[in-house]
Amino acid sequence: MSSRIGAQRTDVVIVGAGPVGLFAVFECGMLDIRCHVVDALAEVGGQCSALYPEKPIYDIPGYPTIMAGDLVDRLVEQAAPFEPVYHLGQQVTTLETGTDGAWRVGTSAGTVIEATAVIIAAGVGAFGPNLPPLAGIEAYEGSAVHYLVRRREDFRGKRVVIAGGGDSAVDWAISLAEVAAHVAVVHRRDRFRAAPESVNRIQELAADGKLEMVIPYQLAGLEGDGTVLEAVIVGDLDGNQRRLDADVLLPFFGLAQDLGPIADWGLALDRKQLAVDPATCATTRDGIMAIGDVVTYPGKLKLILSGFAEAAIAAHALHPLIHPGEALHFEYSTTKGIPGHD
Ligand SMILES: Cc1cc2nc3c(=O)[nH]c(=O)nc-3n(C[C@H](O)[C@H](O)[C@H](O)COP(=O)(O)OP(=O)(O)OC[C@H]3O[C@@H](n4cnc5c(N)ncnc54)[C@H](O)[C@@H]3O)c2cc1C
Repeated sequence: MSSRIGAQRTDVVIVGAGPVGLFAVFECGMLDIRCHVVDALAEVGGQCSALYPEKPIYDIPGYPTIMAGDLVDRLVEQAAPFEPVYHLGQQVTTLETGTDGAWRVGTSAGTVIEATAVIIAAGVGAFGPNLPPLAGIEAYEGSAVHYLVRRREDFRGKRVVIAGGGDSAVDWAISLAEVAAHVAVVHRRDRFRAAPESVNRIQELAADGKLEMVIPYQLAGLEGDGTVLEAVIVGDLDGNQRRLDADVLLPFFGLAQDLGPIADWGLALDRKQLAVDPATCATTRDGIMAIGDVVTYPGKLKLILSGFAEAAIAAHALHPLIHPGEALHFEYSTTKGIPGHD
């Protein structure tokens, strides 16, 4: 996947290579619309790749279960016949009017792309984890402190402290209890914000001594030589402290949602999301559509399958702009096949 420096021209720039942006390449391709795709992350797949590649998803139509990472692989494969140009590891920073009414998109790496239209599929924006305020934590990031789990095998035989009370904390505690030497779950209260079956399961594991609940405690400090972690210090509201032997700390305090530069592009926002017309996925600026987790409209569901449908809607709505004067005859993929791939 290449990233080229210099002004380039295409039909549509897709901002975000999450599952929804990837599927937009396919939907555009089926309507003879060429795409460049830009993502701030070094790999495609958005949240699926960055946050939960080894988790099974159960609500993708036609797949009773599929690993998030496998779904991304299939989306890339499905988009490939349309030869999208990927620009990875660079954030879209600017959106300006270019020549001949085109949009001019600029990235943090200096790439400039001119396009007739833009589809924003930026998910929760330039996402990053909410960080616990622990002195010196940066020194351990990447070695002993991780904000997401890519491969659970990395934690085999390790003493793991998990902090948080949401889905990620609960799900990974359950999963890592099978491979880690010891799992301690630090949470500030006795209630978890996770699926009821998972909460039941974590409580069963705790009752069976397969993991330890450290409740009601919060993270208070780290002990180690600045590279190798030895212990996590936790404290309760009464000022009591405990020292938990640990090789690894996994703080799961959710994602910081930050639209980043997109918030400055003059598009109507509704609670930090882009307000779109659900009939077209159009934003408040001509030729700029938005789809997936980044949008809101009445009844919006933040699900991958909703984003897929929005990708189809946006591509169809853009057709008259990309191919003016050309009639768009609605066709099923079964009738049409993949253009150029019989
Ligand atoms: C743990 C977990 C489990 C989940 N389980 C399910 C499930 O079972 N079923 C389901 O339907 N959904 C599930 N989801 C939600 C699902 O992952 C999201 O709905 C989906 O990822 C949204 O896709 P997207 O392409 O809109 O956005 P994202 O996946 O968020 O991708 C957006 C991409 O845009 C990029 N980006 C943002 N701003 C810029 C910029 N300015 N320049 C360049 N790139 C930018 C980001 O780097 C990111 O890669 C789950 C989410 C999590 C965290």
